[in-house]
Amino acid sequence: MSRILHRTIGIGLPTAVAGEGIYITDREGRSYIDGSGGAAVSCLGHNHREVLEAMKAQMGRISYAHTSFFTTDVAERLAEQLVELAPKGLDYVYLVSGGSEAVEAALKMARQYFVEIGQPQRRHIIARRQSYHGNTIGALATGGNAWRRAQFKPILPETHHVSPCYAYRDMQVGETPEAYAERLAVELEAKIVELGVDKVMAFVAEPVVGATLGAVGPVADYFKRVRQVCDKYGILLILDEVMCGMGRTGTIFALQQEGIVPELVTIAKGLGGGFQPIGAVLLSEKIYRAFADGSGLFQHGHTYIGHPIAAAAASKVVEILQRPETMSNVAKMGERLQAGLDAALGQSPYVGDIRGRGLFRGVELVVDKETKQPFDPSRKLHSRIKRESMQRGLMCYPMGGTIDGINGDHVLLAPPYIIQPEQIDLIVERLAAAINAAVAG
Ligand code: PMP
Repeated sequence: MSRILHRTIGIGLPTAVAGEGIYITDREGRSYIDGSGGAAVSCLGHNHREVLEAMKAQMGRISYAHTSFFTTDVAERLAEQLVELAPKGLDYVYLVSGGSEAVEAALKMARQYFVEIGQPQRRHIIARRQSYHGNTIGALATGGNAWRRAQFKPILPETHHVSPCYAYRDMQVGETPEAYAERLAVELEAKIVELGVDKVMAFVAEPVVGATLGAVGPVADYFKRVRQVCDKYGILLILDEVMCGMGRTGTIFALQQEGIVPELVTIAKGLGGGFQPIGAVLLSEKIYRAFADGSGLFQHGHTYIGHPIAAAAASKVVEILQRPETMSNVAKMGERLQAGLDAALGQSPYVGDIRGRGLFRGVELVVDKETKQPFDPSRKLHSRIKRESMQRGLMCYPMGGTIDGINGDHVLLAPPYIIQPEQIDLIVERLAAAINAAVAG
């Protein structure tokens, strides 16, 4: 019997005892390919010697120093590395311990920014339906996933949602991507006007949507139009790269493929690679200046911000991401994964869409390819796929989202960047078998 309150109670999880490269082994000696990097976390696989050495070296120096007393070389180094890698305009870093914390901090930065510059009436957050930004109260309120929000709604702060950019389901027949992007920009603008043109503080979106839609990237121009709308009304753009950032989509930041720069970016997951819990907010000079020239402080903070061991792990992860061979493998293996999935599942009557970027790929399942009708949620297809795939020694990340009305079950793949061609092929083989068995069952 387990004394842990597990996420799903009573399902009898296997016990992980070891990890090596792309594999996790359980107590029974079964090994699983980590085809989802947990939840898009383990970007360099498990037991990575260089990262472990960096952590050990830091432990031998100092493990913890509260950030209201000290900074540390290792946290400063990590911040330098991140700013160097980020698009120009994101010049400062705020370190936290995970994705939800990063989103909370970004929201509070946005709010304090407007207080500092004398626009305290700006308080509304606009995000998108079918999005996920974390499970703490503010982050959950920002997310637009109806199922996750449902029972907590009465205690969530007010937020507002517009349509996601989800071409597979929402782009109309005959509509060009440009026209679709325009339609979404008009919807966003209408929401801003409805709330009051000087009342909105931030628009929040994931560049490539992970958990809730399954690796859904934007159409060309979407984020350019979003940027224009935000600029028109003086609204801050917060891009949540907790899942899609740190090289996952083929560039260090997914937003680098969109040709825009937001004021705030949240990262986590791949930043620590699972070796340590760590997240960060990258912020623009404009926001930093407002704080520095105003009250002189950011009124926020957690006990473990800038944790030296976490920073040491992240600094080494980031150093490895910067090596050309790391990102070139993401590109090559990402293409191989897409091609393999297309070949193995493209003809399946139950696979509606296979999409994604880099080593971030999603497979959306439908009852009928023509109508794109999702499976009945009561079938819990995503849970069956997870079970079938674990039985075949594959970790993938299936989700069901039908309560929102339009997107059904999907499977997310996010393997480590060190993956090799034959291992990609194994993922494809096992996933195809798991999906077929789950649909048939
Ligand atoms: N934002 C996004 C886009 C995420 O995918 C997640 C986690 N799935 C979070 C925020 C929350 O991160 P965490 O679970 O580390 O709090």
